[in-house]
Amino acid sequence: NLKPVNVKLVLLGEAAVGKSSLVLRFVNNEFQENKEPTIGGAFLTQKCRLEDKVIKFEIWDTAGQERFHSLAPMYYRNAQAAVVVYDVTKSASLDKVKSWVKELQRQANPNIVIALAGNKIDLVHSAEESEEDPAESGRESSVRESGRQVSTEEAKAYALETGLLFFETSAKNGDGVRDIFVEIAKKIPLE
Ligand code: GDP
Ligand code: MG
Repeated sequence: NLKPVNVKLVLLGEAAVGKSSLVLRFVNNEFQENKEPTIGGAFLTQKCRLEDKVIKFEIWDTAGQERFHSLAPMYYRNAQAAVVVYDVTKSASLDKVKSWVKELQRQANPNIVIALAGNKIDLVHSAEESEEDPAESGRESSVRESGRQVSTEEAKAYALETGLLFFETSAKNGDGVRDIFVEIAKKIPLE
């Protein structure tokens, strides 16, 4: 019977990358095809049970629109964790993530745990799965996927050099979503 440890977590990233959808998937195990945009910010909580501890995430979901940028410090100021989200089908959304990470490293808690999530992985169609041909398997993996603008290798390398946890996710089908929160929970020290 463990007492939950409260952890303030903030979601950041360009508008429409799927921040609110990731939260909705994690908290309610739901997905909405045409989710209305977040205005300002939204607050939700969800517990995450590990073997040795229970983390209660206090999740601050922010609006991605530029006109709300000035509100962000209010959300990340005391955050112990941040999830920065991009859309794997939009390379500009990874640039936005990089500017958020720089801002967090300058202004947020120096011990903040940051996770990078490349969302909408369900929109990437792998040619490999549809036309399996062992003779062709030596070919570049990048030509085998359509829809993708950010490669796993590129994002993973960036995450590694910057010290971020890295995930590819789909709020639509749930892939990878729980892992983000579980891996963050594991990295939160017990005081
Ligand atoms: P936010 O502005 O970052 O909070 O993005 P939303 O969660 O509002 O999502 C923006 C749009 O992308 C909505 O129409 C969602 O249904 C859609 N969406 C979000 N996540 C995914 C995903 O993983 N896959 C697909 N195919 N669509 C998604
Ligand atoms: Mg939103």
